[in-house]
Amino acid sequence: MEIPKQYDPKQAELHHYERWEKAGYFAPEINQDPNAPVFTIVIPPPNVTGSLHMGHALQHTLMDVMTRHKRMSGFRTLWLPGMDHAGISTQLMVTRALKKEGKTRHDLGREKFVERVWQWKAESGGQITVQMRREGASVDWSREKFTMDEDLSRAVREVFVRLYEEGMIYRGNRIVNWCPQDQTVLSDLEVDKLPQAGKLYYLQYPVKGSDRRLTVATTRPETMLGDTAVAVNPNDERFKDLLGATLLLPLTEREIPVIADEFVDPEFGTGAVKVTPAHDPNDYEMGVRHNLAQVVVIDQHARMTAEAGERFAALDRYKAREQVLEEFDQLGLLEKVVDYEFSISKCERCKTVIEPLISTQWFMNMEQLRDLALELMAKGKKPQFVPEVPYERVYTNWLENLRDWTISRQLWWGHQIPAWYTTDGQVFVARTEEEARAKAGTSELTQDQDVLDTWFSSALWPFSTLGWPNETEDLKTFYPSSVLVTARDIIFLWVSRMMMMGAKFMGGEAFHDVFITGTILDSQGQRMSKTKVNGVDPLDVFDKFGVDATRLTLAQVGSTDTRWNEKQVESYRNFANKIWNAARFCMLNSEEAAVNPELIASSESAQLHDRWIISRLNQTALEVNAALATYQFHEAVQTLYHFFWDDFCDWYIELSKADVTAEQASEQRTEARSRLLSVLEQALRLLHPFMPYITEELWQRLPGVGQSSLHPAYQSAEPTIMLAAYPAGSQQLVDENAEAEMQAIIDLISRVRNIRSEMNIKPGERIKVIVGAPDARLRRVYSVAADQISRLVRAAEFVVGETLDAPRASARAVLTGGAELAVPLEGLIDFEQERQRLRREQEKLQTEATKLEAQLQNPSFVERAPADRVAEVRNRIADIAQRNSQLQQTLENLQ
Ligand SMILES: [Zn+2]
Repeated sequence: MEIPKQYDPKQAELHHYERWEKAGYFAPEINQDPNAPVFTIVIPPPNVTGSLHMGHALQHTLMDVMTRHKRMSGFRTLWLPGMDHAGISTQLMVTRALKKEGKTRHDLGREKFVERVWQWKAESGGQITVQMRREGASVDWSREKFTMDEDLSRAVREVFVRLYEEGMIYRGNRIVNWCPQDQTVLSDLEVDKLPQAGKLYYLQYPVKGSDRRLTVATTRPETMLGDTAVAVNPNDERFKDLLGATLLLPLTEREIPVIADEFVDPEFGTGAVKVTPAHDPNDYEMGVRHNLAQVVVIDQHARMTAEAGERFAALDRYKAREQVLEEFDQLGLLEKVVDYEFSISKCERCKTVIEPLISTQWFMNMEQLRDLALELMAKGKKPQFVPEVPYERVYTNWLENLRDWTISRQLWWGHQIPAWYTTDGQVFVARTEEEARAKAGTSELTQDQDVLDTWFSSALWPFSTLGWPNETEDLKTFYPSSVLVTARDIIFLWVSRMMMMGAKFMGGEAFHDVFITGTILDSQGQRMSKTKVNGVDPLDVFDKFGVDATRLTLAQVGSTDTRWNEKQVESYRNFANKIWNAARFCMLNSEEAAVNPELIASSESAQLHDRWIISRLNQTALEVNAALATYQFHEAVQTLYHFFWDDFCDWYIELSKADVTAEQASEQRTEARSRLLSVLEQALRLLHPFMPYITEELWQRLPGVGQSSLHPAYQSAEPTIMLAAYPAGSQQLVDENAEAEMQAIIDLISRVRNIRSEMNIKPGERIKVIVGAPDARLRRVYSVAADQISRLVRAAEFVVGETLDAPRASARAVLTGGAELAVPLEGLIDFEQERQRLRREQEKLQTEATKLEAQLQNPSFVERAPADRVAEVRNRIADIAQRNSQLQQTLENLQ
């Protein structure tokens, strides 16, 4: 059997993926069972702007583990890949690239600019698909989608038209978040509210017909030019006599009323607030309630308008602020300025301060959609969030407070709004221009220049990707998806909207479960980000440690926030090497042997260690399947790791070595070799969803695997581990007697090994081991395994009796089941030297114990220290006492 000494991950990663993909193993059609259960995941589409980061690698690993596990378990699986056009981010990127050529998008014009973006998408998007292939992601590339594909765009128009016809989408003149830099409206979710150390300015407005002044406090003095009222709380005694009074608005010719509104917080500032309906969302609402005029004094470029007055017009908003303050000061109307911390809204992408502006936009009323989603949760707990706490509450809270969604964006890259205007301004919403012409009765139409918010098309992703609005086979088969895997920061932007749209257009839930992943932090516990340059590039980690080791590390993260720790990846790289070496040993000793499932299908007539490994194998399979069914990825990884490393490598291979490496060919040797190979083969299958490359690389070399190893649903496929049946585990083959007996032997061997190292017995030295076991069954277990035990502890003599009959100068240990063991030391070690060493250890322990006891004597420690810390000290003292008595025993034995 040819097998390289060293595992080379790159070698394995190079060719398997291509073969799997070409053979069509990722497509659901590979499954030939007409009654196969279905498993679907739609990928959270990465932005076409980016390259993959650790967050993607984490999500993709978890999705691939689930998909591969279900595929091997006989499910008809579809993991559908795709990308998002990411409207504003992509437009920004291409705009920046143009800037380097000294051009703006207006130089190109809309059509050429959009062409340019498509070009750029072809390059950048291609990179992501290469990276995903490297990850081993078993997505069905034949169904890859892009949110701007023609069929997905058709779904977008269909939804828009239907919601418009139902009155849920409307065009209105409302106050919105405006980014003066990007020149577009933004939804509340695209705006960052950040704390800002600023000033609070107290401005005095003269009361008409009196020498009184009313003081208002504001963080934005320049907006006073657009004030149309001052409001006070109706219950505020201080201002009772001013209600209905008229104020002379300084720096302008205008007069404004004092109004009463419940919304005013008497505690803020002076209790009187200026009202600027055109430039503040709360004032806007108040303006609507009191029918106030909207005086627009700031424009879309954040410059003052003509309405602000001649001397302010065209000034930048901050310049205007300075000038307003200067003039107030000169007029003696600036009462005071105080330091003030408040939250400021900035554009999430370009960080420009948002200007609230009144603007004509398209909105979506969310009431009906919200109720549909809340009902799904209330009635059937759909979707099931994992972890449920806190995400279910986060989700429902947000839905309960949902406001209308601003869906239009002043961009060129995206789905252009399917609304057409006649020359006299009538609007016709239609699926196509043709339909609009028919409705309007004219061909003199202009399409709305705006595009839809990127998240509009993302909201349709679970069904638009399967062919909706057509009733396709895919839609019937694969909708709703089984589980959505995503990060917590897009529960609002994306998860909730998919649920609402799914409920509206498909009925029911878009996916059964939502698994929220943890965040991978840098080694200092900070979020990884491009700007901080603390990110770790998954491709670098793949290069350094291999994809499989990285995947195992990521799978462990699951839903917990985790600091990135390269040591962890390194230890899984070592695990991969361990797997390789173990498999290599099995294959180098495989002459005349082959994988034979029957050898592990029952454990009758087998030796104890065989019955034991069959039991462990089945127990492991049961546990891993149970862990994956409940998204406990960490548990699944730990279970597999310990099974393979401890049970299989450290014990089973060692215990079967004598039979497997016997020089003479025999039936017994062939059976031992075949059984070893068969256990290995099952272990590789168990590991495959996590470590696809090394498992395939090894599996292909195993003698005896082939078409018959495949799951019945894949009988026509070429042999590959990815279509082999995932071991389900059988409760019948879990053998508690075998596990208990084997545990007794493992315990005995471990104790003797401990003694060897504790007493500094040279590795080459053959020892005598004496065991006293009052229990007859245990004596039989030890006696049957005597050869194996002797080999593993390098004993020249192994004696088992009812009672322990050992010389005084022996190292002793107590075993499970009331047995005892002794290793006579005479002639093995220098007694005097050993006694000195033991006394030194005793002294050290005594010093530590004295210190700890003093701590416990100190009442303030016992009262103030956390309870678990106190318990820890008590436990340590008890441990020391026990160790001390052991040392004392050993010392006495050495007299
Ligand atoms: Zn911006």
